[in-house]
Amino acid sequence: MTDRTHPGKLFLVGIGPGGLEHMTGRARAAIAEADTLIGHATYLRLVAELVTDHTVVRSAMTEELDRATQAVELARSGRIVALVSSGDSGVYGMAGLTYEMLFQTGWTPETGIAVEIVPGATALTTCAALVGAPLSHDFCAISLSDLLTPWPVIARRLNAAAMADFVVALYNPRSGRRSRQILEAQRLFLCHRRPDTPVALVRSAYRPRQTVELITLAELGEGEISMLTTVLIGNSQTQVHHGLMITPRGYASKYDLRDGATLEGERVGQPLSTGLDGWIAELRDSRASVAELARRFQLPEAYLADLLR
Ligand code: SAH
Repeated sequence: MTDRTHPGKLFLVGIGPGGLEHMTGRARAAIAEADTLIGHATYLRLVAELVTDHTVVRSAMTEELDRATQAVELARSGRIVALVSSGDSGVYGMAGLTYEMLFQTGWTPETGIAVEIVPGATALTTCAALVGAPLSHDFCAISLSDLLTPWPVIARRLNAAAMADFVVALYNPRSGRRSRQILEAQRLFLCHRRPDTPVALVRSAYRPRQTVELITLAELGEGEISMLTTVLIGNSQTQVHHGLMITPRGYASKYDLRDGATLEGERVGQPLSTGLDGWIAELRDSRASVAELARRFQLPEAYLADLLR
């Protein structure tokens, strides 16, 4: 039961990628306010300078359930608890699990202990910053961990992301016992992307053993990849210039980047000529059947039929 005379609080603190300088002010304040810190030993080490007279509870990486249970119990007993995670605690982190557990035990935001999620800079953006600007167009994250997700689900998402030309960040790409997953991801991507597609391997970003390597999709299988690596796979437009991986934002299809002039057929502040309205007009002019358009644009026939009705 929650002890209402000593209301506890649970902070779910994302500490960012590693170094204290990449931690938010709110994350520091939450740790300062807490009397109890819980987390994996690696993360507690990263915030060691901020530990004062806290009670510190270290747990193993695999003990996520225990960690969440313990954090909730301590907060219920009236403590101010900071459960620290790397990156953002809502991104493949403890936040979802903690809420699931709280709800299962009858918690509501109105009646239970206070819970505050303190956002942190996640691996995908922090790793991206070290290699250039690979996420300047649509991107997604996929975890290769099949500890809790069936492989066909992961494979379907990899395939869909590869097919739809997303830049993709692969979290949990390989561990001691999981080495084949990254090879399967490579095979699926090679069904849709060129072998020379740029790939970045960023390991231990903003930590003492940080390494950054630029390779290609063809070389992904031989790359040095571990649990501490985030893999960034470029889309069909991503380029490498002087060791920097850049995904164009799309300005070049509308403007001449040398003098800023608008390209023929395009207008400043207006959608592209191939934006929604322009594209519909083009479809109406074409004599192609809905089935043919569905194949050409890889879109469902039902959608195109509705669009053109
Ligand atoms: N909550 C974390 C992700 C936890 S999942 C976040 O928001 O970043 C663990 C995975 O995150 C690792 O396998 C790795 O792929 C990635 N990761 C976390 N920290 C990293 C770092 N400092 N450098 C590179 N990858 C990192």
